[in-house]
Amino acid sequence: MPIDPTLPYDDNNIFAKILSGEIPSAKVYEDDWAYALEDINPQAEIHTLVIPKGRYVSWDDFSAKASAEEITGFVRAVGEVARAKGLVEPGYRLMANIGHHGGQEVPHLHVHIFGGQPLGPMIWRQK
Ligand code: 5GP
Repeated sequence: MPIDPTLPYDDNNIFAKILSGEIPSAKVYEDDWAYALEDINPQAEIHTLVIPKGRYVSWDDFSAKASAEEITGFVRAVGEVARAKGLVEPGYRLMANIGHHGGQEVPHLHVHIFGGQPLGPMIWRQK
């Protein structure tokens, strides 16, 4: 069920619990600003999630309220994870879902990194 990205941050969301260590995850990277983990239900050969450590509901919330340091740290972490996975030369795709039309299900900002195979058309279109 897609979330409402205009609601306040919910400290009980699954990624908050992963960040606090309450719920285990397959960690692939961590620094002061970001944490990366393998998606539990991968949609491509490589499907990794990068989340900021701060309490941000969505890309909208983050881009409006995060500090310059948080934004820089998070963006660099996404690039670092993709490089570490060898995705630059073959190419990859980044995705951040926001709210209902985006199909966002977890109310803590996350960027999906997809790769390891050709990824097909950019967006699904109803015939
Ligand atoms: P969204 O639709 O919000 O952009 O994507 C949420 C993603 O989080 C989905 O791809 C889903 O598989 C993943 N996910 C949901 N719960 C968990 C979890 O407990 N652990 C991990 N690693 N991924 C999760």
